[in-house]
Amino acid sequence: AVNPLYTNLGPATRFLAERFQHIPVTERSQMISMAKGIPNLINLGRGDPDLSTPPHIIAAAKKAMDEGKTHYTDWAGIPELREAIAAKLRKENGLDVDPSEVLVTVGGQEAVFLLMFSLINPGDEVIVPEPRYTPYDTAIQVAGGKMVPLITRPENEFQIIPREVEKLITPRTRALLVISPNNPTGAVMPKERLEELAEIAIRHDLIVISDEIYEKLTYDGFKHWSIGSFPGMKERTFTVNGFSKAYSMTGWRVGYVAGPREVIAAMIQLKYAVSICTSSISQEAALAAITGPQDCVIETARIYNERRLAVMQRLDQLGIPYVVPRGAFYIFPDIRKFGLTSFDFCRFILEKAQVLLFPGTAFGEAGEGFVRISLLAPVEQIHQAFDRIEKALSVL
Ligand code: PLP
Repeated sequence: AVNPLYTNLGPATRFLAERFQHIPVTERSQMISMAKGIPNLINLGRGDPDLSTPPHIIAAAKKAMDEGKTHYTDWAGIPELREAIAAKLRKENGLDVDPSEVLVTVGGQEAVFLLMFSLINPGDEVIVPEPRYTPYDTAIQVAGGKMVPLITRPENEFQIIPREVEKLITPRTRALLVISPNNPTGAVMPKERLEELAEIAIRHDLIVISDEIYEKLTYDGFKHWSIGSFPGMKERTFTVNGFSKAYSMTGWRVGYVAGPREVIAAMIQLKYAVSICTSSISQEAALAAITGPQDCVIETARIYNERRLAVMQRLDQLGIPYVVPRGAFYIFPDIRKFGLTSFDFCRFILEKAQVLLFPGTAFGEAGEGFVRISLLAPVEQIHQAFDRIEKALSVL
């Protein structure tokens, strides 16, 4: 029984409670709890790199601790890191960014939350490509906004089609979200489509939130572009990025957002109220990551590519269609031919093959008929998983 003291929780908590009763996140957590205790489980569901943080980054954190860098830092982040991030964004992404326009956050996730709480007024609409990374809609809706799904489709390689964005724009549209490379589809937006999106954003006076957390993980020569670097976009783009994926640093919790100074200033105040600052030690580690040798990132992308090719080869052998992922570390194959819902398919694979996959519906209704396979297990394990999947599917 619920203590009557707690029957009337605040709107954010209420929203989440309702949400968790029936939508995507539950499917993911249901799969995870069903997977608990399954012997010899192979986890191809995870979004957390299995690779270790490179040693020079760990060494920098240890050094920081030994040197007593264990205090609160500036709310917006240590100046050296903000400078290094601004320099990186200028050099690699063509963004015109000053350190004062950078906020270091507790992962990209905190940046998303602070952004939505800073930008959104009740009723404001944010266009979110679906299948989608669901924490965004939590942030949008808890901030009082309305999430407007924009369905991306396999026939378009899960890319955002600019004219479809235009159809969803209303007088209440405040922002458009772009996640490229994408989780869960692996889609990478080509420059021409991003330019068209930029043109639409300018014409309709929209804000663009560009999540570039997987930027370093692209394949087949596909290049990542930052929409904020296109003419007229600086004043309306917030670029979210972080260290979790490229440097295998999920547990360190460091990300950042760069954008127009007046909003960053407001976000810094909000950040202070939420968490004061990002961990001093993790920021020193992030500084070593961003200013140190980058061969670890190239090696990480090489490893994921090898795994990607292995999964693609096995899917080809099974005759399971998929859109070739050009970035991130996921594949989003189409399992409709098996006649099961995504959830039932994943449950079947979990029970019969002891392999954990995530149902596409964990990423919104548009994910029905698809599953997300992550590339976060060694090649041998991927083959082992597919040997089992193949055997399980042979009885269907
Ligand atoms: N954005 C996307 C698209 C993600 O997939 C993730 C994590 O999976 C995040 C943001 C959050 O990453 P972090 O908070 O670890 O930086």
